[in-house]
Amino acid sequence: MTLTPGTATTIPVLSGYLPVQYRPFACRPACTCGTCYGITTDVPVTFIGQVEYADNSTELHYRDAAGNLHRVMTKAPSGDACF
Ligand SMILES: [Zn+2]
Repeated sequence: MTLTPGTATTIPVLSGYLPVQYRPFACRPACTCGTCYGITTDVPVTFIGQVEYADNSTELHYRDAAGNLHRVMTKAPSGDACF
């Protein structure tokens, strides 16, 4: 899929995830209440652009209605500039 800047789309965003040390005792190490792993929702966003960094990683940048920037890495750092 090729995105052009300004395209409206949705991306999955995880919210409400609790690290193990913040969970109720009954949910350590595995959650039993069903909420500690957070909820993934599809957030409507606008595509801003693709950024290619010197470490060969690639990120897609999106902005949501509240003005928050969402950065989604689609290619991990690799190569000579990444030790
Ligand atoms: Zn839980």
